[in-house]
Amino acid sequence: MATETLSPSALLKKSHARVTPQREAILGFLMGTDSHPTADDIYHHLGSRFPNMSIATVYNNLRTLTGLGLIQELSYGDSSSHFDFVETAHYHAICQVCGKIFDMYYPGLNEIDTITENATDFAVTSHRIEVYGICKDCQKKRSEKKAE
Ligand SMILES: [Zn+2]
Ligand SMILES: [Zn+2]
Repeated sequence: MATETLSPSALLKKSHARVTPQREAILGFLMGTDSHPTADDIYHHLGSRFPNMSIATVYNNLRTLTGLGLIQELSYGDSSSHFDFVETAHYHAICQVCGKIFDMYYPGLNEIDTITENATDFAVTSHRIEVYGICKDCQKKRSEKKAE
């Protein structure tokens, strides 16, 4: 999905973080997927490569990577957080039926910072926008149900 992406280990080095095989693998997995996995998903995905890795190790690494700003933790009210590689600023559309998260790009939304600063004299640090709805698959399932 990236045009010019550094390798996971290069990114870690650039952030002055310690490079461990697990950390590299977790970051690499997040860089290569747009499925917004949970810690559990990551744990199961990498389990065959790192049979001795505990779920606590996954959580610790996710916390470190989030702290470095390399990944983003997404919590949308459901029980477990999802994780996303931070590449280009983007927003999320969340399906209210199945909970799947979809990426959405809308560069124009960055203006919201300036508009807010002008309107309120705020020193804006960040903004958070989520779009809720029903994904294509769930719409299809619904209309199939109706047709029965
Ligand atoms: Zn859905
Ligand atoms: Zn995303």
